[in-house]
Amino acid sequence: MKEGCVFVDGEYREPLSKKTTSIVNPANEETIGPVASGDEKDVAAAVAAARRAFDEGPWPRMAPGERAAILWKLADLLTARLSVFAELETACTGKTLFDSGKIEIPMAAEVLRYYSGWATKIHGETLPSRPGAFTFTLREPVGVVGAIVPWNFPFLLATWKVAPALAAGNTIVVKPASQTPLTMLEFGEVCREAGLPPGVFNVVPGPGGRAGMTLVKHPGVNKVAFTGSTEVGREVAKEAALALKRCTLELGGKSPNVVFADADADAAVKGALTGIFYNKGEVCAAGSRLLVEASIHDAFVEKLREKAAGLTVGDPRDKKTRMGPVVSKGQMDSVLSYIESGKKEGARVVSGGFRAEVGGGRGFYVQPTILDGVRPEMRVAREEIFGPVLSVLPFRDFDDAVATANATVYGLAAAVWTRDVGKALRAAKALRAGTVWVNAYNLYDPALPFGGFKESGLGRELGAAALEHYTEIKSVWVDLS
Ligand code: NAP
Repeated sequence: MKEGCVFVDGEYREPLSKKTTSIVNPANEETIGPVASGDEKDVAAAVAAARRAFDEGPWPRMAPGERAAILWKLADLLTARLSVFAELETACTGKTLFDSGKIEIPMAAEVLRYYSGWATKIHGETLPSRPGAFTFTLREPVGVVGAIVPWNFPFLLATWKVAPALAAGNTIVVKPASQTPLTMLEFGEVCREAGLPPGVFNVVPGPGGRAGMTLVKHPGVNKVAFTGSTEVGREVAKEAALALKRCTLELGGKSPNVVFADADADAAVKGALTGIFYNKGEVCAAGSRLLVEASIHDAFVEKLREKAAGLTVGDPRDKKTRMGPVVSKGQMDSVLSYIESGKKEGARVVSGGFRAEVGGGRGFYVQPTILDGVRPEMRVAREEIFGPVLSVLPFRDFDDAVATANATVYGLAAAVWTRDVGKALRAAKALRAGTVWVNAYNLYDPALPFGGFKESGLGRELGAAALEHYTEIKSVWVDLS
């Protein structure tokens, strides 16, 4: 029932658009639905509800401790229904049930708890200015937030916006990706049970170009928080700029994973595989460019090939599966065409390279693919593939590694593998990316800001840094004379 609705003003409603669509389960091509497909009218109703809740409702006005308690309760209720959320996430995305249930939904609960802690710690400062004046700042909520999220981590990435927004006293309208609205819709129920006042949290599924863009342009929205492709992010930023709205963007990447000759090779192989094959490579920070020092290149690639061959591709609900299907047929075709482009440009397929023959021909499965002999000018070295395809490039020395790693329009993440602490720290400073892992890959924590340099985004999510984007600073002068 919920999936056919939008969640507005604390209740599930039929969309004003009267339109529904369906979702294709990428594991077996069965349809899920009908799912609501909201339009301009639905976005307007959701923004009006969020506006009322912000301008007149209790949420921004209540004691921060009360907000903290509700955010904590959201996490508790989410945890209590973990399996429901995990099943929905896996059905829409094709990610393994293990990843949904043991990693991503629990991480989302952690994010809610982390920002519950912040609700009572958002404050201004007293600032000495001049005699005869008492001057201080207040940190106030921005207002109504319009959040647009992608399909790769539909629930987790939404909480990166919802949790800091709510902790600071804002209200929010979320536009989930068309393929993956179910967990956000389910969260409406959790919000109701936790006692979140109506209108504070709203969800309108619908097409990006229509529902998403309406949300960006709507004059009732004060801040836009977008996660998605760099291409759409540019459009979103343009419209937000025209309206002079606050805007944060979490965009694409082509992150370098740099392995020096002195690294622990076994750990680096494991890290390289996690870096590219976790969530089938549908990770904005995926380590999709593996830079390997020339002196160990051949042996390293051989080790990588052996381990990649052992990765089980298959039904995401099966415990043995390490990699489920990519999210859609369109995504599968795009990934396969990148592999073809790599081959044409002279890359050598070390492993994979084709659609995976599992599921009796049903489902969008791609083999974990490793391309060697990739040169920096090839498309597979420059463009975000957003699938299980690793491009391996050799490098000569430290300077060559850093130059090659930084030779990209993106700057979301990077990693270095070495036993030399000095080299690791020099690299961490030299790499132009929002996150640098040393002897690790794909680690996240709610306390650590995440976001991109260059065309990978604007602003930061998570940590205290995110709260800056969900608050306004007000200076207050009191004349004491
Ligand atoms: P996308 O096509 O940009 O879509 C992202 C979201 O924007 C979806 O909800 C989409 O709705 C909506 N949208 C599409 N066109 C729009 C428009 N004209 N105006 C407003 N909203 C619009 O990206 P995606 O393919 O879903 O996700 C993959 C991309 O996200 C990759 O590039 C990846 O790197 C990036 N990403 C970045 C991060 C990060 O933290 N930096 C995290 C995850 C993913 P529909 O679904 O209806 O099209």
